[in-house]
Amino acid sequence: MIRIENLSKKFDQHEVLKDISLNVDKGTTAVIIGPSGSGKTTFLRCLNLLEIPDSGTIELGKEKLAFKGQKINEKVKTRFRKQSGMVFQSYNLFPHKTALENVMEGPVIVQGKSKEEARETGLALLEKVGLSNHVDKYPHQLSGGQQQRVGIARAMAMGPEVLLFDEPTSALDPELVSDVLKVMKDLSEEGMTMVVVTHEMSFARDVADEVIFIDNGNIVEHGSPNDVFEHTRHERTKQFLNRIE
Ligand code: ADP
Repeated sequence: MIRIENLSKKFDQHEVLKDISLNVDKGTTAVIIGPSGSGKTTFLRCLNLLEIPDSGTIELGKEKLAFKGQKINEKVKTRFRKQSGMVFQSYNLFPHKTALENVMEGPVIVQGKSKEEARETGLALLEKVGLSNHVDKYPHQLSGGQQQRVGIARAMAMGPEVLLFDEPTSALDPELVSDVLKVMKDLSEEGMTMVVVTHEMSFARDVADEVIFIDNGNIVEHGSPNDVFEHTRHERTKQFLNRIE
């Protein structure tokens, strides 16, 4: 479903991603962990072409791109972005639209679906994320956790092959985190293909098929949760896990 080969990205002279290769199989959840500034967000943004890699290839769903320093035109970006849905740390909901309108926006405006169809799908998705009673509320009437669940429903509404999560719970008050993680766990168990950047180690242990530890732009360690957490091979991973857990 996702095949990444030799991906590199610099900002000016700063090499943020160094020759990263990674496969994520269909229906699996890959969790990316690592210290702040190690390149996790940049990696995720490359998968959505919010950042353009300097070199390497990305195959995602039905699209494949090789990067050689060329400009990527908007049509190609749009096609590529249709493969994935992104859930951001800061939800990014439209403040003047209700939960349901936020979820309907993409299908209606971008995909040209009828309002009736988008409403039906939107209601089903909001039910799935536990927000049936809040569909007509505006973001400011919802808790952070509820807003993030709208964000997940909105990403799902576009029917992506893959969901990308960039620290989806790190802006939330601690008591709101578990509802969001529960929705993500359910999606994972239903066979959604997901790449999740998070500091929630219990989620990584519990839900990930693969855990990837990135440090300083490199994949240092990569394996099952059991491999990475119980049979840690690399000193840098051990130090990180000791600090965070
Ligand atoms: P993480 O998600 O692991 O915290 P990031 O991918 O956000 O790491 O950042 C990796 C490094 O790249 C950091 O040193 C950050 O300052 C730098 N960086 C990220 N985005 C940009 C940008 N748009 N311009 C310049 N430097 C950036």
